[in-house]
Amino acid sequence: MSITRRGFIQGMGAATAIGMVGVPHLAFGATKKVVVIGGGTGGATAAKYIRMADASIEVTVIEANKEYYCCYLSNEVLSGERTLDSVKVGYSGLAAHGVKVVHDTVTEIDAAGRKVKTAGGKTYDYDRCIVAPGVDLKYGAIEGYSEAATETVTHAWKAGPQTAILRKQLESMKDGGVAVIVAPPNPFRCPPGPYERASQMAHYFKQHKPKSKVIILDPKASFSKQGLFQKAWTKLYGFGTENAMIEWRGTPEGSSDNKVVSVDVASRSVKTEFDEIKADVLNIIPPQQAGKVASASGLVNDKGWCPVHLDSFESKLHKNIHVIGDASVAGKMPKSGYAANSQAKVAAAAVVALLNGQEPGIPSYVNTCYSIAGKDYGFSVANVYKLTADKSDIIDVSGGVTPADASEEHLRREVEFAYSWFKNIVADSFG
Ligand SMILES: Cc1cc2nc3c(=O)[nH]c(=O)nc-3n(C[C@H](O)[C@H](O)[C@H](O)COP(=O)(O)OP(=O)(O)OC[C@H]3O[C@@H](n4cnc5c(N)ncnc54)[C@H](O)[C@@H]3O)c2cc1C
Repeated sequence: MSITRRGFIQGMGAATAIGMVGVPHLAFGATKKVVVIGGGTGGATAAKYIRMADASIEVTVIEANKEYYCCYLSNEVLSGERTLDSVKVGYSGLAAHGVKVVHDTVTEIDAAGRKVKTAGGKTYDYDRCIVAPGVDLKYGAIEGYSEAATETVTHAWKAGPQTAILRKQLESMKDGGVAVIVAPPNPFRCPPGPYERASQMAHYFKQHKPKSKVIILDPKASFSKQGLFQKAWTKLYGFGTENAMIEWRGTPEGSSDNKVVSVDVASRSVKTEFDEIKADVLNIIPPQQAGKVASASGLVNDKGWCPVHLDSFESKLHKNIHVIGDASVAGKMPKSGYAANSQAKVAAAAVVALLNGQEPGIPSYVNTCYSIAGKDYGFSVANVYKLTADKSDIIDVSGGVTPADASEEHLRREVEFAYSWFKNIVADSFG
């Protein structure tokens, strides 16, 4: 896909304009209540932007954890390029915007009564509720796997302690060992994430355990930014040769070749229909669905994701509840942190408008996704999206991807841009 710089900037302008468009000037004095479930990238952004648009609205974020570990850049923790602390964020920034932050777990939303109930026994009333619980991992989809097993066979698909365990396992692994990543089926959080993870593992092995390798077992026939990843792997890790440090075993359409059906946690081995592979380090990224609270509250479709009206992210199943981020079905947008941030701004503008008796504006949306494949080797995909005229889909209208023949300098700069993007998204969402 190619774009002109001018077209892209025009698109970006439209995307940021949602911050103003559709947000009416508000009457002061009314105490409207918004409860946000989940203080991750989507929830934190929505809470902050509602307060910025209308400080008369009382916004409460209910978040299970006291600290948030960004998944973005957490793959670099695995290679030792950064510490886990460097992706940790607290909630003082939201508090400074007047957002009330409560640390508790929401068990259920009573849509008819407009109440949210928590494990801590509290009930919160709302006029509008924003649900941003991220993903739930379907451990049961792979025989022998379970949440209890993740101490030994990590997923590390929610950054934090899981990331630390996986890093330790890689450090303890002998040179000549094999790390196996089991990739999930579509749709899932961060489509390029498993392949960036393989790259970061190989980056570590290349420096410290050069006889080791990473095998990706994939139930899919292709993956995000595949050409760019494979080019990077060829250059950096001998991809396609006998000494390859990364091997990708995909599954052609209609077959089940490298689809993992069961795992033996004790021996760290996985079975596909045709093969059994013993790993020294095993990382299983299970199939996914919307965070548990969404299904517990009747917000999901038969595939486990939340259908929403795409101009406001209001649920198609329950009024006055908006679902954003990974949990939502957001047209052609991927499940990414940047997408969650963009959707949060659309939902925030819509909620402020609706609470003031106005119709939501017509939004546009944006996403950029960086991947770091090794030292000074990054690439990205960027898109601006708009709502179709009948409001039934979000489609990309302009965008671009790192060219296949990008220079070394270009690839090095993409890493710098990725770090800069990280600082900006954290500040924009949580600061
Ligand atoms: C390895 C990896 C790399 C990634 N890299 C990138 C990247 O480079 N760029 C990018 O844009 N995206 C990236 N992502 C994806 C990105 O992290 C997610 O898409 C993003 O976090 C989604 O935001 P969210 O708000 O929907 O969910 P989350 O950020 O997961 O937030 C959900 C929050 O809700 C809380 N919660 C859930 N249920 C409850 C409940 N019942 N009560 C209270 N709190 C609850 C959770 O504790 C959590 O804090 C990556 C993901 C992974 C795994």
